[in-house]
Amino acid sequence: MKQEQTDVIVVAAGLSGLAAAISAAENGAKVIAFEKGSTTGGAANMGMGPLGVGSRFQRHHMVSITPGEAFRKHMNFTHWKVDPRLVREIYNRSGETIDWLEDMGVEFLTVTPVYPTPEILRAYATSEPTWHVVKPADGSTQLGPRMAGPMIKAMTMRAQDLGVDIRLNTPVRSLIKENGRIVGVVAEAEDGEKIEARAKGVIIATGGAGDNPAMIKDYTGYEWGKDMFSFRVPGMDGDGLKMAWEVGAVKTDMIMEIMYLVPDNMATPNNFIIDGAFRQPCLWVNSKGERFMNEDAIANTTFAGNAISTQPGKFAFSIFDSALLKKYKKKGPDITSHVHPFDLFDHFEEAVAAALEAGYRHVFAADSIEELAEKLEISPGKLAETVDEYNELCDGGFDDLFEKDHRYLEAISKPRFYACRYFPSAYGTLGGIKINYKAEVLDENHDPIPGLYAAGLDACTIYGDSYPFILPGNSMGFALNSGRIAGENAAGL
Ligand SMILES: Cc1cc2nc3c(=O)[nH]c(=O)nc-3n(C[C@H](O)[C@H](O)[C@H](O)COP(=O)(O)OP(=O)(O)OC[C@H]3O[C@@H](n4cnc5c(N)ncnc54)[C@H](O)[C@@H]3O)c2cc1C
Repeated sequence: MKQEQTDVIVVAAGLSGLAAAISAAENGAKVIAFEKGSTTGGAANMGMGPLGVGSRFQRHHMVSITPGEAFRKHMNFTHWKVDPRLVREIYNRSGETIDWLEDMGVEFLTVTPVYPTPEILRAYATSEPTWHVVKPADGSTQLGPRMAGPMIKAMTMRAQDLGVDIRLNTPVRSLIKENGRIVGVVAEAEDGEKIEARAKGVIIATGGAGDNPAMIKDYTGYEWGKDMFSFRVPGMDGDGLKMAWEVGAVKTDMIMEIMYLVPDNMATPNNFIIDGAFRQPCLWVNSKGERFMNEDAIANTTFAGNAISTQPGKFAFSIFDSALLKKYKKKGPDITSHVHPFDLFDHFEEAVAAALEAGYRHVFAADSIEELAEKLEISPGKLAETVDEYNELCDGGFDDLFEKDHRYLEAISKPRFYACRYFPSAYGTLGGIKINYKAEVLDENHDPIPGLYAAGLDACTIYGDSYPFILPGNSMGFALNSGRIAGENAAGL
């Protein structure tokens, strides 16, 4: 086995791992980052940008939220069931972390979302302007997935400039513990050679267990492919969680970073159109044909994801008719998400026809409510009853069941009828390892395990039961700031 020695080892070079490696190196440490994948950045390559509170960029855009306000909102949202010291530390540093990114060349496009959608229907209508969306390298201003790429590029270059030794395709297999202290790792090089690397501090940053269906089932209760269609970013196998637990780290609850999607939403452009188009405040029913929420809240991915998760079978249908389709085509959709293209309805019929032709099982079209019910496998009588009741509410202009905003009470009566089945989805898993505000990993007695730190999704236990959409960009914000904290403290050993 090859032997190596350094000051700080970072297990992974995803978002939190890069932040940890850069900050350890900035604090004078020699750093090796062992990365399982063939690129840096992990899941963050797919995202848009991080949270920051009190950044220069916000001040330039006249955004005045302070870390103290964010802290109070966050703690109230989570009912004070999470570690306030860690939460406070994350928000205190988060603005300066955005400045730190800018100083290494990252540019931001916006922090104040402007959507062509009435306020009540916006995805983050009740959120604060904390989401620093990264400016694409090509100068485009179209919001969408994968915008955060230039941030990963700049961070990787910064790490390399500081002399961080990034080893791609080199997974860490286990931690070395001697006399109660973590003193290194065993990694495996691309050619299969084992490396025993020793250091004063080891930082786990492996991004959770989003690509491990068995762990998702055991720890979150969802069954991937049945009632959970989360992003499975390759490499998120829960390695860091298992390694930490093996050396005595206390296990915390794990949750999914919940939202909702159609299965295989990015597999084809048609699926992506369908996924975006049906997120309207039309009629939503569960598998029993019953309404289950005020549909004007459907753009809130946390609330809607939670609501769908609590329905029988954990799925739900969005339904509209050709009158609503005509309106969406003419005036634009009621909800335009920040991720899907603005011109979804220009391609709607082609997308539905192509998906049906290809045998996609989650979109439906029918000439009557009875035919639709049969396709959705809902009792035709029950669906007809729900539609009749709903249409009566629309006629009366008031939803006495859920108080849906009257502007979106529009009858479902004109064939053709369209429907789409949504399931709970998630960006990945959250939590598993407990850390304190210094990012030290805690044992069963909540005492630090000397020499061991964790950051990012592996250690993200600050949300309670649901992702806090009120302060968006939160999981990248947590990854960056917990990574920086871990890097600084490990370098100081
Ligand atoms: C589609 C999508 C969009 C998103 N958009 C946003 C957004 O706009 N804003 C936001 O705040 N969040 C967003 N997120 C979430 C965000 O990407 C994560 O919060 C962030 O990447 C977490 O950082 P991390 O370091 O914990 O994990 P990652 O960045 O995923 O990094 C984990 C790394 O660990 C490596 N690894 C795993 N096991 C090992 C091992 N044994 N040895 C060595 N390396 C290992 C992996 O290869 C990977 O590189 C999005 C996620 C997805 C999937």
